[in-house]
Amino acid sequence: MNNDEIIELFKESNALLTGHFKLTSGRHSDIYYEKFTLLKQPAICTKICAEFANRFRDSGVKTVVGPTTGGIIIAYDVARYLGLESIYAEAGDDGGRVFKRGFSLEKGEKVVIVDDILTTGRSIFEVVDLVKKYEAEIVGVGVLLDRSGGKVKIEYPFNPLATVSADAWEPEDCPLCKEGQELTQRGSRKF
Ligand SMILES: [Zn+2]
Repeated sequence: MNNDEIIELFKESNALLTGHFKLTSGRHSDIYYEKFTLLKQPAICTKICAEFANRFRDSGVKTVVGPTTGGIIIAYDVARYLGLESIYAEAGDDGGRVFKRGFSLEKGEKVVIVDDILTTGRSIFEVVDLVKKYEAEIVGVGVLLDRSGGKVKIEYPFNPLATVSADAWEPEDCPLCKEGQELTQRGSRKF
């Protein structure tokens, strides 16, 4: 699937909303990606995971790792396609990410890291740091949607299925505010 086909899946699943949104960063945007609207639909989500699986099939990957929460769903289904195991990285008590529930990696074990939306790349970088602690080998990183427009650099083989550069403005510069459009607050961190 190419960039446009992935964006089309977002639209089909109503995961891509247009309007006037306040993002978790506090900036305003005319587009919002409601990732869980897509992730809650297995029939659509599995098409994306099949695409990830195709891209990583020849990488020698042994374990698929995702950060909570969307990454759990994606890692699980990608691993299912590849006949591998998936584990997930949770928030640590002192920041960063940790493996709990008996999850672990061997030294030199080949892993791919998958996640849903890359905005600042923080979750991915936290998982990279965690995997490095185990001295495992990262053979690929995949995100469903890179909304940084390619600005965030990943130093491993990187597979964003779609890349967009979302328009976002500081509230005082927001053209939609100036038009008097009603603001919708979205994002799991804000409710
Ligand atoms: Zn606004």
